[in-house]
Amino acid sequence: MEKVKFFDTTLRDGEQSPGCSMLATEKLTLAKQLERLGVNTIEAGFAASSPGDFESVRDIGQQIEKSTVVSLCRASKNDIDSAIEALRDAKNWGIHTFISTSDLHMKHKLQMEPKDVKAMAVAAVERAKKATDSVEFSPEDATRSDPKFLVEVLSETVRAGATILNIPDTVGYTTPDEMFDLITLLRNEVYNADKVIFSVHCHNDLGLGVANSLAAIRAGARQIECTINGIGERAGNASLEEIVMALKTRQEYFGFESDIVTEQLFPCSKLLSQITGVDVQPNKAIVGANAFAHEAGIHQHGVLKNALTYEIMTPQSVGIKSSNLVMGKHSGRFALGERIKELGFDLNDIDLNHIFKEFKRLADLKKQIFDEDIEALVTHGIGKQTDKYSLESLIVTSGTTAVPTATIVMTIDGQEIKKASFGDGPVDAALNTIKEITGMQCTLTSYVVKAITGGTDAQGEVSVGVEKDGVRITGRGAHTDIVIASALAFLNALNRLEMRKQGLSPATPLQKTALGGV
Ligand code: MN
Repeated sequence: MEKVKFFDTTLRDGEQSPGCSMLATEKLTLAKQLERLGVNTIEAGFAASSPGDFESVRDIGQQIEKSTVVSLCRASKNDIDSAIEALRDAKNWGIHTFISTSDLHMKHKLQMEPKDVKAMAVAAVERAKKATDSVEFSPEDATRSDPKFLVEVLSETVRAGATILNIPDTVGYTTPDEMFDLITLLRNEVYNADKVIFSVHCHNDLGLGVANSLAAIRAGARQIECTINGIGERAGNASLEEIVMALKTRQEYFGFESDIVTEQLFPCSKLLSQITGVDVQPNKAIVGANAFAHEAGIHQHGVLKNALTYEIMTPQSVGIKSSNLVMGKHSGRFALGERIKELGFDLNDIDLNHIFKEFKRLADLKKQIFDEDIEALVTHGIGKQTDKYSLESLIVTSGTTAVPTATIVMTIDGQEIKKASFGDGPVDAALNTIKEITGMQCTLTSYVVKAITGGTDAQGEVSVGVEKDGVRITGRGAHTDIVIASALAFLNALNRLEMRKQGLSPATPLQKTALGGV
């Protein structure tokens, strides 16, 4: 059976979604999970966009063994050279270069003549081809481009050495029938079309990203660009998990297989949510909280008798496990490490001593430790070694007649500082005190608290959105006490802002928007 290849752009296009920016350490953790998931290609970032992105692309290239790692580049000498520089020591790598081909973009965005656009595309592919065999070219806004011009540009880039032609529906404008026709036309008319791989990159502005991708496969595309949880610019990209499970569940209809290990889909989705602080909606296909929940009595009855009555695929096949009691206060460091490995994390990425300390603290507060609790400990622990701010102790008083007050001891670069302040509630008091201690002027843009597992002793997980100088960043914290969880989440956001300031993090959304992308 023929295979469809998966090109994941969660770390590049996905990261361009509002509030989804990730630190380099987080991107590396996610890249390793994408490799376990079996994606053929990981678009690690945009090397030329910032020194942080460059480092991150290089790190991922060097640490990923099986998947091909690529960097996006505009069709310019500088972008291509910086991608080559970042990736030259990678195990498997390629270059993805793009330029707009629609009249609208050429005239208003590029302010260039079509013939000059074509020349730039060819020059870019030639330059990339000198350094690597794997060169992908994308005519940005392809679905709104003149098909004749598209055929011309694509033919020239194939002559110049492009091995993958990616057709982006950059603004999510096309429909499945149109996509089918476009891929068919290009496969018939582009020079040496049978020697290259056709790929699509569909956005979801009309909710058609997945449908358009599947139509492209039927027309002959053999690579799909997509993201975990469908994150991406605006309404996002086609969602990887939905396309994978459509091909698998309806294999007799589509007739394709892929290298994706479907049991890693849910762990991947969860890791991404943990890192970005952005959850999928409950009714999200495949990975939403309700995707396999059967509320209606008649459905439950059917599912209990035979799951196939209302389930077209099993929760196990996408990696959803029911919560198991796994550990308690007597579990040791080794057992915890083993469990963390089973949950799909790489022990090299985390500070096990720190996680174990947190685990012991949690086990004292909460009798039963579930997989979800351990996952929260691990993901909240990523990058902790380099934190500037940390919480030592927190005392709050509040109640119907008391003025909410918080007394906080924290360290800044290892130096201890103590202060007390007020607020209109215990969370407000705690956050005000932290603001006073750190002197950080920032705005809280969102505040969400949820329980990680069931029960009144469950850990509360708080995610906060913080904005400073136009940069929006998410912080997360988990604790059985939600006031402490809130303080931890706020400090996590401040630490992430700090890392961004030190240039350890990717380009800001503003920098990225200026660069564009397919
Ligand atoms: Mn895109």
